Amino acid sequence: MSEMANWQRRAVLKGLVGGIVAGATLDRAHAAPTVDAERAALETILDPSAEMKTLFTGGRWLEGPCYLPDLESLVFSDVKTNRMWRLGDDGSTETFRDPSENANGNVLDGEGRLVTCEHRRRQVVRQEPDGSITVLADRYDGKRLNSPNDAVLAPDGAIWFTDPTYGITQPEEGIPAEPEQSARRVYRIDPSGRLDAKTDTLRQPNGIAISADGRTLYVSETGGDATAPNGIVRFTIGDDGALADRQVFALYDKGVPDGLALDIEGRLYAGSIDGVRIFDEAGRPFGLIPTPKPAANLAFGGPDGRRLFVTATDSVHAIDLKVPGIEWRKR
Ligand code: MG
Repeated sequence: MSEMANWQRRAVLKGLVGGIVAGATLDRAHAAPTVDAERAALETILDPSAEMKTLFTGGRWLEGPCYLPDLESLVFSDVKTNRMWRLGDDGSTETFRDPSENANGNVLDGEGRLVTCEHRRRQVVRQEPDGSITVLADRYDGKRLNSPNDAVLAPDGAIWFTDPTYGITQPEEGIPAEPEQSARRVYRIDPSGRLDAKTDTLRQPNGIAISADGRTLYVSETGGDATAPNGIVRFTIGDDGALADRQVFALYDKGVPDGLALDIEGRLYAGSIDGVRIFDEAGRPFGLIPTPKPAANLAFGGPDGRRLFVTATDSVHAIDLKVPGIEWRKR
C-alpha cells in the first residue's frame, strides 16, 4: 500500500532506512540503539545466531505472504505489478497468478483453500481445488466494497477482512474510483457465506489478526490523525461475533503498522517502517526484528511453522524463531 511511500521518503531523509543488510545476524541487526533488556527479551523467541535471509527480491510492493503447507511454498502478492508469486521451500520461484487483480492480502481458509483480497476487482475471492475462483464478498448493502486489503481466518471458520480505500485511491494499486461505501469497515464472512459489517470505527483498517481462542481481534489503523492516531486497535469478540471493548493496543509515533500475525504465546508481530515490531499481550513493545526496507506484511510458515516470512517493500525475507505462529496450529 502506498501509504508506506510517505514513510519511506521521510525515513530516507532521516537516514532511517537500511539499518541492516539481509543475512546479518541478530547481533549485527541490533548493533544500533537497542538496549540489553530488549535483546534479552527477544532472545526468548529468537536465537542470537538466527539469520534473516533474503529469499526473493526485485518486486515493487510485496504484500500478502501466506504459507501453503501442501505446496511447501509461500505465496505472496506484488500489488503494483499485478502479480502473485510462489516461493518454494527449495528456493524455486514461479508466477502464481498473472494478472492477480492487484491482489493484496492472502490467507488459507479452514479447508486450506487460498482466500485473496483483490484491489482491482474490489472483492474477496477463494480458489477452489479445481483452480476456479469463487467470489466470497464484493458488495455490502448493495454497494461495492472499497478495496479489501487483508484477511484472517478465525477458529470458527469465518474469514474477517479489512476494507480501506487504498486500492481505489492509489492508481498503481487498482483502479481509481469514488468510494461507494460510507465507511471503511472490518467485515466477517460467515462459513455460510453471509457477510456482516463488524466495525466502522477505524479511518483505514488495514492489517488484521485474531487470537488463537477466537476472542480477540487486532486491526491496524493506518489512516490516523491527531484525534485517531495510527496504531493497533484491539476488540473483544463476543459469543455472537459482535465486537466490544475497543481499546488502543499500541500507538505508532513513526510510520504505521500494516500486516499482523500472532505467535502461539500471544505476542503480536506487526509489519512496520523499521521492520517487524513485536508486542506482548499487554501491548508493550517486546522487540524489533529490523528489515532493510519497510516491512508491509508477515506470515508464519515453513516446515514446522516457526519461520517468519516478511514482505519488506521489494523483497521477501525469512527468519526462524523459537515459537510457531498460531496459523500453523489450526491446520
Ligand atoms: Mg495491508
